[in-house]
Amino acid sequence: MTRLLAELSGPATRTVLGPDSVLVVPTGAMEHHGPHLPLITDALIAESVATAAVQRAAEAGLDVWQLPTLTYTKSDEHSWASGTVWVSWDTLMSTLVDIGRSVAATPARRLVFLNGHGGNTAVLGVALREIRRLHGLLTFSMPAGVQVAGAGGEHEPDEHGLGIHAGYGETSLVLHLRPDLVDLAQARRSVPEHIGALTHLGFNGTTAQFGWLSDDFGPDGVIGDPTGATADAGAVLFDASVRRAVDVLTEIAAFTHAGPGA
Ligand SMILES: [Zn+2]
Repeated sequence: MTRLLAELSGPATRTVLGPDSVLVVPTGAMEHHGPHLPLITDALIAESVATAAVQRAAEAGLDVWQLPTLTYTKSDEHSWASGTVWVSWDTLMSTLVDIGRSVAATPARRLVFLNGHGGNTAVLGVALREIRRLHGLLTFSMPAGVQVAGAGGEHEPDEHGLGIHAGYGETSLVLHLRPDLVDLAQARRSVPEHIGALTHLGFNGTTAQFGWLSDDFGPDGVIGDPTGATADAGAVLFDASVRRAVDVLTEIAAFTHAGPGA
């Protein structure tokens, strides 16, 4: 049976879906990823992880469904680069909340955004609460790919934990998923090492953050080191990403705010 919700008829959604159905919307981007990766990188990773995870979770008995990928999202940090097609934060917010409103008109009550683009994360966090408050759904978001800090392990380049865009992790994943779209000869290291040396300021999980555009760090718009990327590493990352996504979906399917029996 298909797990792609858009392949059902409208009336079928009323009988197939129930309050415990988990609906997964992959969110990606169409944005500049340096000279070596395709614009579709984030959407490709999000959709590929979602498809594999939804299939595997369904085979394990979860009532889980995949919606079409949201590809035009908030990529203003790459707006300087030709090829980036982006919407503003408030357009994305409205779109996410409208998706929630539409899902709330089905019998399903659990909505997950499986996100492949870091620039969407802050908006997603706000949207989860908006949809919860306005439309009553249980709302969730999660990153599509496992975090690759590039900390200089045996087979990893040292990205000083800053490999956040078009670096080792993403490049390896696309080499695994669509090697025909990668031009490794164009890949160049671009790691803002001075930021890795700071105590408090940084990108994610740091005490304090700064506003940034991707060309603040160099002309390629790359933040990381793609030069050591391999398809084998991508296969390992993809498998880890899918396994984690299945685990998260399993928790989501059973989640209640107040706890069981409350
Ligand atoms: Zn990306």
